[in-house]
Amino acid sequence: MQRIYFTALTPEQYIASEAHRQVRADIICPRCGKGRLHGHGTYGRGITGMVGQLRRLLVARFICLVCGHTVSYLPNFAFAYRIVQVATFEAFLDGKIDRVDVQRWQTVLADYRRRMTRFAVVLVRTVGCGFGRAPPADGGAVWPWLKGACGGLESATRLLVAQFRITLFRRYQCHQPAEVS
Ligand SMILES: [Zn+2]
Repeated sequence: MQRIYFTALTPEQYIASEAHRQVRADIICPRCGKGRLHGHGTYGRGITGMVGQLRRLLVARFICLVCGHTVSYLPNFAFAYRIVQVATFEAFLDGKIDRVDVQRWQTVLADYRRRMTRFAVVLVRTVGCGFGRAPPADGGAVWPWLKGACGGLESATRLLVAQFRITLFRRYQCHQPAEVS
């Protein structure tokens, strides 16, 4: 299972200070709601930095001794399964196309936006008025809606996973709790 972990650090700061070592896991396993979580190493993945350079991020991972599942804590500056950091995509959506990081990843960012637009109907249907602000009638205005309701893309991403178990791009199995058996 994957959780989004709040941090005020940038990817560079997070990596340099080895902040994955400081991650505090949930007290009780968020998947089964029964076991305690124990440290279970890390996994590495890519993340883009401030000027778009590729960096290696270590993500803290824990294991539940009751259900046996692992729970990883992805810092909120990163998207699940996507390499470009959230702040760069936010700048792209805001039209800051002269930024170096945006320019470097423009093709990928355009793809992110296409995916977001394609998924908007499901996203809007899932969240509804759950952010205290009426969602857009069509998919096109998803970003202004999220920005107005959540303040920014990092908090929107974090709240979407925490409250609605969904991302901007799709619904992932790793954000769902255990199936009821
Ligand atoms: Zn568990």
